[in-house]
Amino acid sequence: MTTHLTESTLFTLPSATISGQTHHSSTTTKTPLHNASTGAQIGWQEHANSDQIDAAVRAAHTALPAWRATAPTTRAKLLKKIAELIEADRERLTAMQMQVSGKPPFEANLDVSDAAATFDYYANLCTEATTFAPEQIKLPDDTVTGERYYEAVGVAALIVPWNFPMVTTAWKIAPALAAGCTVVLKPSEFTSPVEHMLAGIMAEAGLPDGVVNLVNGGGEVGAQLTAHPLIDKISFTGSTASGKKVMQAAAQDMKRVTLELGGKSALIVRADADIDRAVTLAVGGAFANAGQMCSATARILVHDDVYRKFMAAFETAVRAVVVAPPAGDDVAMGPLVSAAQRDRVQTLLAQGVEAGASVAFSGRLDAACGEGFFMAPVVVAEPAADNVLWTEEVFGPVACVKSFRTDEEAIALANDTRYGLVATVVTADPDAARRFKTQLRAGLVWINTPQLIFPQVCWGGLGLSGIGRELGLAGLRSYQELRHAITDAS
Ligand code: NDP
Repeated sequence: MTTHLTESTLFTLPSATISGQTHHSSTTTKTPLHNASTGAQIGWQEHANSDQIDAAVRAAHTALPAWRATAPTTRAKLLKKIAELIEADRERLTAMQMQVSGKPPFEANLDVSDAAATFDYYANLCTEATTFAPEQIKLPDDTVTGERYYEAVGVAALIVPWNFPMVTTAWKIAPALAAGCTVVLKPSEFTSPVEHMLAGIMAEAGLPDGVVNLVNGGGEVGAQLTAHPLIDKISFTGSTASGKKVMQAAAQDMKRVTLELGGKSALIVRADADIDRAVTLAVGGAFANAGQMCSATARILVHDDVYRKFMAAFETAVRAVVVAPPAGDDVAMGPLVSAAQRDRVQTLLAQGVEAGASVAFSGRLDAACGEGFFMAPVVVAEPAADNVLWTEEVFGPVACVKSFRTDEEAIALANDTRYGLVATVVTADPDAARRFKTQLRAGLVWINTPQLIFPQVCWGGLGLSGIGRELGLAGLRSYQELRHAITDAS
């Protein structure tokens, strides 16, 4: 079903894949799909109608009892197979991501590796005896025994955004399937070709019909899915604004929720930092994936003593970032995902500047950028604490730098946000690193490292950055209900 996706003629992707069958929609709603680097339309994504959304949820509901009852080792084999098929299809998956998202080859390849590693990790977790075995609980009463055990939560609605389509999808589908849940996935309408390929791979791996279903379309499709009474759990990644709506929809039936939302994270450069390393981490933290990352460390805090040195090296590095279509040599940064996203980022930048923020320096676009949705990286120096560029998630290649004098001041500045996803600290002092690690309000703190992500390490944030954790054992547990039994021991 997927071979036509990379051809140059306009294609139309089906509105739904239910129990292994693709469906087209009688409604006229469809979203144009673009090549982010050229701006050219490459196809259409049909939107699912209400009947199809209902049918997809019912298919997952019907498939649930049998899938939930499979041995974890059976699920492990299927997840392993999916990981292998993703690896085997690396070239095509990379090419499609480069096309719809404009990701440079190294970023598109990283996403494929991450997705394969996630399926592989959950396959292995399925084979570990402790993952599913009931646990005995010591009770202060010899006449009874206590047991703790976990059961698949049921049918999961998985809603993902466009910035890391393969990755966010793998982070949800792999633990959900490992736990014994069946799913209905709603990809972003802007990058859905990637998930169509993944769905093809999962079917090829031999997943039973109805275990993974797809409904396509925009926020209205996501909203109908979250409101469906047969959905037991919602896992959502996206903006905090949409996350709030998802949580409200979930409240109706007390659906379980995992929300992975926005961020406004800090990178802290202490006076003892290796400045070259700090600059490398700042460029990666702010401009990887063209800044379209919930984990973007776009608030850069630099100690006064090294501020000038850092800014000079940062400027050189930012001016050297090659912003170009992904096919080009040495390309470091691709376009934004859409014209709308670029407009949104440029509007925020203009608002920030209008309110008094000053651009310290910016990068440049390669001549090959043409009509694609490109934007050069921008660095703003010393914005006011209430400037929109300092307070709002920009989700594009705009970073702010502020200076500080003491660790306390740096921590206070970093924590002065209602988000709390990640943070990076660059320091040569292990004691300082320990203090920052505990005092920074963030789900994950990187110390002197790039934004390394492993399936073994949980992902998720505090405050407006969301609820719950993905990845790791906690990621699997989030698709299970924790239950207990007390049994008479006589
Ligand atoms: P959204 O949060 O609106 O979208 C994320 C996903 O949720 C998409 O699949 C979307 O559908 C779907 N969706 C939208 N509204 C609802 C709803 N009420 N119920 C259920 N699902 C819904 O992000 P956008 O793509 O609209 O981007 C807007 C801004 O959000 C960006 O500019 C960026 O600032 C931020 N963002 C943050 C992300 C993060 O990881 N922190 C990820 C993506 C965006 P569809 O997109 O197909 O319409």
